[in-house]
Amino acid sequence: MFKEAIIIQPPLVQLNTAYPSGAYLNSFFKNQNLNSKWYDLSIELFNSIFSSDGLKKLFSLTEQKALSLAHDAQKNGDAATAENLTAYILQKKLWIEWIDDIMNILRDGIDLSTREICHKFIYSPFVPRGNRMNNYMENADHEITIDDARNLATMAVEDLADFIAFVYDKNFSLIRYAESITVNEHSFEQIEKTLCSPLLNDFYAPILDSKFNLKINEDEKTLVCISVPFAGTFTAALFTAKFFKEKFGDKVFVSLGGGFVNTELREFAEKSFCIYADALSFDRGYGSYIQLLENKKAPVYNMRLFSESEIFEPLFADDAQCTEIVKIENEITSSTVPDYSDIDFSKYPRMADDTNPMQRMWSDGTWLKAYLAHGCYWHKCSFCDVTLDYVKSYRMTCVDKIFDGLSEQCKNKKISGIHFVDEALPPAAVKKFSLLNMKKNNSALSFWGNVRFEKVWNRDITDLCAKGGLIGVSGGIEIATGSGLDKISKGTDLESIVSACCAFKESGILIHAYMIFGYYGESEQDIINSMETLRQFFEAGLLDSCFWHKFVLTRHSRLYDEWQKGMHKNLKPYENKNSGIFAKNGIHFEGEEAYEKYSEGLNQSLQNWMHGKGINKSVNKWFQFKTKEPAVSKNLVSDAIRKYEEKRDSLYSKNFEIEKQKPVWICDGMILSGNKLMWSYMQETYRMKNVSTEFFESLKCLEPSEYDPSKISELIKKDPQTKQKLMYLRGRGLII
Ligand code: SF4
Repeated sequence: MFKEAIIIQPPLVQLNTAYPSGAYLNSFFKNQNLNSKWYDLSIELFNSIFSSDGLKKLFSLTEQKALSLAHDAQKNGDAATAENLTAYILQKKLWIEWIDDIMNILRDGIDLSTREICHKFIYSPFVPRGNRMNNYMENADHEITIDDARNLATMAVEDLADFIAFVYDKNFSLIRYAESITVNEHSFEQIEKTLCSPLLNDFYAPILDSKFNLKINEDEKTLVCISVPFAGTFTAALFTAKFFKEKFGDKVFVSLGGGFVNTELREFAEKSFCIYADALSFDRGYGSYIQLLENKKAPVYNMRLFSESEIFEPLFADDAQCTEIVKIENEITSSTVPDYSDIDFSKYPRMADDTNPMQRMWSDGTWLKAYLAHGCYWHKCSFCDVTLDYVKSYRMTCVDKIFDGLSEQCKNKKISGIHFVDEALPPAAVKKFSLLNMKKNNSALSFWGNVRFEKVWNRDITDLCAKGGLIGVSGGIEIATGSGLDKISKGTDLESIVSACCAFKESGILIHAYMIFGYYGESEQDIINSMETLRQFFEAGLLDSCFWHKFVLTRHSRLYDEWQKGMHKNLKPYENKNSGIFAKNGIHFEGEEAYEKYSEGLNQSLQNWMHGKGINKSVNKWFQFKTKEPAVSKNLVSDAIRKYEEKRDSLYSKNFEIEKQKPVWICDGMILSGNKLMWSYMQETYRMKNVSTEFFESLKCLEPSEYDPSKISELIKKDPQTKQKLMYLRGRGLII
């Protein structure tokens, strides 16, 4: 019935790289022997606007309106806006001339002459300049040089984005489109009205027209899968779906899936949706598409089907009929390697929008995205969507297969970075991936991802992973107090969090933390204590960046599930109070408004701490109102660091059994000169006397690339001094 699958990422998701869901589906469909092609239309739309042809079109569509808005602003006494808008129009020729070079700078110079253009871009007065660019130049704490070109090019794109949102399409932003409409509107008809938007019709429709001219046989259909990861992609997804339905009618089967569908559209059963699509696909999608390809009649596993006459509800995993398909889906999950062959990574800009090194990872880097495990191995945090498949259904992948598949694609695409998008990376899998990278690839890949801050991340494992390519981790601290962590069932304690952060930092790994405030029942004292502990983390240099989330009670969380079962009597959710048609997952609750007032102080202090400022200011001074004093010890974090150091040192001095504990030697280079061994590890040079050639050779055999511990075992039997020498190497390149 189906001869091919088309996978579409509608705009606007992210700028620096492709969103991974398409890569997983692409691989899956190919394994099902379907012709499959994946289109990232998000980057296509971005590039079509931010190009010289795009800006010509944009200015021709907006010039009159911009001038008339400027005129109105002047009349209303807003001279700054009037001048700003007029400047865009006066400089339109410069913007059109420069935009392709600006984009080349952001793409790290596809064109060989880009570096030279940077000189002109920075110093010439004949260059367009918007407010953000001017601010950057005026407020820089150093002399601007061509090394600032990428920052300035980023500001240029953001300046243009401001103009677009102000004059042309108020729903535009560089990532996400019309998100607030999707979240706030109360009826599907109101959301449908967004489809008349200028951006979608003037810029996106021509892209769809030029890309898709399907030739379909009478008895074959094309499967069109549209990925909707966030609310800010839903309008464009509907627009895309409508395009296919209007142009190809019942020759296409259109299905929407992805994060937003999973959390917000689980109950969505609007009849008129059949104009746009035939199905909503929930969770991983593999099982439902298999049943669809097998032509199974409704009901289908994990898929709601829409037709003019009827809506067919899905079957879910707990249905007895689904046992077999769940098993198949799990096997596919473990073995699928995402397929990026359709993606041209040279199209993606690397935005330099922050000086914080960890924050930059999100926007600056063409990462190939994948996961080492589906779901979260802990899946118990009370605020998290633990009742949904993407968290609760934990399943490891085959790390060897993922490693080989990703390495090959990185080589082909000439990229070397991987962003693991796991809910929480399993330490054993990261360790294995790191070893494979050292062994097979000379650590050519760099990678980062989400972890849980637990004691298992000790110096041995973090050194190994850092050597094997791990460059950054992010993870939840959430409420940084002992009782707070217990209350949310975080499954870790402050000492363990400090310990993990110490180990990561000592191994040179960047760290980002997620924090929560306004958890139900949280007192002001709890918030201030948590903030003070966070301050101490920054003071000790244990964190590079962080984000405060205001707690949102979600329908799929453990907390809500328990409340439904009669627990948490003090929690009082307001069912559906003022929620938009597609904002079903978040539920308001009594008392939550009281936490709003902390937002500004928490965020302002954090912004300062992340940029090395204001660290000694007491935490309650960041608020415009009087708050409680922190009631945690001033040495809370430093005491925990001391405990970590004692444990680390005792770990290094602990005897180990070579047969059982697998020592690995990961120095950066070593020389045996006479009987003196010299080696370098983490930029330190070490020396050891009385070293035999045999010891030197045995040590080499502990390197991951030629791992064979039998030689050193033999040597230990022959020469008991060997063990002592090995002990001296602990913490200096020898890890267990
Ligand atoms: S918050 Fe993170 S660690 Fe906790 S259950 Fe969710 S994914 Fe797992």
